[in-house]
Amino acid sequence: MAGSGVFAEILDGDVFKYYTDGAWKTSSSGKSVPIINPTTRSTQYKVQACTQEEVNKVMETAKTAQKLWAKTPLWKRAELLHKAAAILKEQKAPIAECLVKEIAKPAKDAVTEVVRSGDLVSYCAEEGVRILGEGKFLVSDSFPGNERSKYCLTSKIPLGVILAIPPFNYPVNLAVSKIGPALIAGNSLVLKPPTQGAVAALHMVHCFHLAGFPKGLINCVTGRGSEIGDFLTMHPGVDCISFTGGDTGIAISKKAGMVPLQMELGGKDACIILEDADLDLVASSIVKGGFSYSGQRCTAIKVVLVMESVADALVEKVNAKLAKLTVGAPEDDCDITPVVTESSANFIEGLVTDAKQKEATFCQEYKREGNLIYPLLLDNVRPDMRIAWEEPFGPVLPVIRINSVEEGIHHCNASNFGLQGCVFTRDINKAILIGDAMETGTVQINSAPARGPDHFPFQVNFPTPLLKKKLMP
Ligand code: NAP
Repeated sequence: MAGSGVFAEILDGDVFKYYTDGAWKTSSSGKSVPIINPTTRSTQYKVQACTQEEVNKVMETAKTAQKLWAKTPLWKRAELLHKAAAILKEQKAPIAECLVKEIAKPAKDAVTEVVRSGDLVSYCAEEGVRILGEGKFLVSDSFPGNERSKYCLTSKIPLGVILAIPPFNYPVNLAVSKIGPALIAGNSLVLKPPTQGAVAALHMVHCFHLAGFPKGLINCVTGRGSEIGDFLTMHPGVDCISFTGGDTGIAISKKAGMVPLQMELGGKDACIILEDADLDLVASSIVKGGFSYSGQRCTAIKVVLVMESVADALVEKVNAKLAKLTVGAPEDDCDITPVVTESSANFIEGLVTDAKQKEATFCQEYKREGNLIYPLLLDNVRPDMRIAWEEPFGPVLPVIRINSVEEGIHHCNASNFGLQGCVFTRDINKAILIGDAMETGTVQINSAPARGPDHFPFQVNFPTPLLKKKLMP
């Protein structure tokens, strides 16, 4: 059970505590934030609503701890990270249980997220020792007009206090993908977990606590982003913001001060399918890539752009596979589980209603029970429909029929998003050329978009068409 066993000290009555200065604390606000179970739609957990004064104290603590940590030998930092990784993997069951209850992640995927996170922490420790163990040596006469009279030594130094804000869909994995690199490089951390997913994140933080990191190095403040988010991101004690999420990132980038920003934002990942593609491979990639975790992945396929001549055959194959997906509770490890909040379900429904009014072809009947939305393929979607451009973050996938590859590339590049994409064809030369023309961070050839393996480059949203369009007046 969440908050029991080694995790008992993180709970105060029925409210989970926040973490700072090496200890679990109750907020002086006397207020808590409820976390609603997406499946039952009732309160599952509660977390502290931290105050601004508490955030101020946390920042001070993090700053002091960072100064000492920066002097801690690299090999010792790595040792502690390996220890935390091992504890995290040992504790996969209770943490996965939180993911099932807070964000309706299917049980097996929840365990995978925790194990993968442990592996990532270890990987950061190993790579950190190598990368940070190296420096550069420059000589002055390599630049015109200079004699060899000066030498320059460079090495990497920490930034200071890192504010880490992950999204709900991978609250553990996308938290450690910030925590691991930050810590090995000598920084301290203030983590603001997503509200849905906060309890899983607090359990993960406790694993770092159990590993014996110095007091104040890792801190976790809870509360709604809409309430404490601005105070955190505009706080003068923050030296870098690492954010993953949706349009919130655009607002943060406008408000944050002169600090480095690492932004991983949304996606409308396009899947371009040519006439010569292996349609069985495409169909299984679309179902896995578009509907895993009910489409709530930044890398989910979010628009299918298929050549008209093979569209009927492809749609038939995809529909046959969709009919086999299990729909229900995350505890039962169903393929399609409830989406994270009622407002997310309402948003998705708005996109579906718009498509219906504009006469898209419904391959399945639209069906919703609470937050549970049944998988839906919308065929004959046209550019005047919202679903052609917006990110539903749910199990609803639009198919746009195209008459030329150029049309597909044009749609992909006209999108406000630029995260990932994929192309299916047996002609590798065409695939490379199309991949090159798609303005996305990564293009997979004959495979659905994916973030992993976690050591592959992924920081692709900066600059993207989205940021270019929205940040430039
Ligand atoms: P979101 O609504 O943007 O929230 C992300 C995080 O920001 C949450 O922790 C949220 O806290 C916090 N937040 C909200 N308002 C804030 C504010 N004013 N200041 C600071 N932080 C604030 O995104 P989401 O719904 O959790 O996640 C889904 C989105 O993330 C999708 O667009 C998806 O594509 C994207 N995503 C991108 C990647 C990538 O690597 N590119 C990976 C995964 C997901 P609360 O929960 O308390 O509001």
